[in-house]
Amino acid sequence: FIEIKDVHKSFYQKEILKGIDLTLHKGEVIVILGPSGSGKTTLLRCLNTLEQADKGQIKINDVTKDFTKKDRRNTRDLILKTAMVFQGHALFNNMTVLQNVIEGLVRVKKTPHQEAVKIGLAMLEKVGLSDRADYYPVQLSGGQQQRAGIARAMAMKPELLLFDEPTSALDPELVGEVLSAMKELAQEGHTMIVVTHEMQFAYEVADRVLYMEGGIVVEEGTPQAIFNTPQDERTKKFLARLS
Ligand code: ATP
Repeated sequence: FIEIKDVHKSFYQKEILKGIDLTLHKGEVIVILGPSGSGKTTLLRCLNTLEQADKGQIKINDVTKDFTKKDRRNTRDLILKTAMVFQGHALFNNMTVLQNVIEGLVRVKKTPHQEAVKIGLAMLEKVGLSDRADYYPVQLSGGQQQRAGIARAMAMKPELLLFDEPTSALDPELVGEVLSAMKELAQEGHTMIVVTHEMQFAYEVADRVLYMEGGIVVEEGTPQAIFNTPQDERTKKFLARLS
């Protein structure tokens, strides 16, 4: 379904991703753990082509992009396959919540306005924000803003949902509502890659946990395997620091 092969990315001659391989099945939820600077965000940004990988292949369903060949083909097709929820909500402050949610549909997918509104309202309902459609982002709590960000990503009907530490900027009491919205999406069968330090979420929701360090996947396995019986010293050290 999704195949990531030998993805490399450097910034200013410093190699941040040193060959990432990853296969996901439809409906699979993967949590990526790793210390700051290990390349987690860069990997997500390469997957949704906010960054262009230097080398390697990304295949999502029927679209394959080979970054080793410097051709521009398939970039747009690949962009439409994924949607990302960021650490901060990244909503446009001068637009209402509903306008934010339908922006991509109308501008990128050229969905007719009325249909986009229908989809947008359905997505807001899904994340429990039906009554906030006409509010502006500043009028929402941080948790509501993040849920609006999730509705916006979902509106694009992506085949792969990417979450980059979606709760790490939130006050602790707001974390739960965002995680439960994500859990619901996972239970509905959405394919997701989640970068998070929320171990409980990883334990309950992830099918697989990946531990990244220094631009490589050091170890991967079920949450039980990674948390209870990590094999690699680097994983052990990281987990020991967290607990
Ligand atoms: P964190 O948990 O802190 O977000 P991370 O594992 O997500 O860390 P990345 O954000 O992928 O790590 O960053 C990995 C390294 O790449 C960092 O050293 C960062 O400074 C560098 N980096 C990321 N983006 C760029 C960029 N656009 N230009 C230059 N260097 C970058």
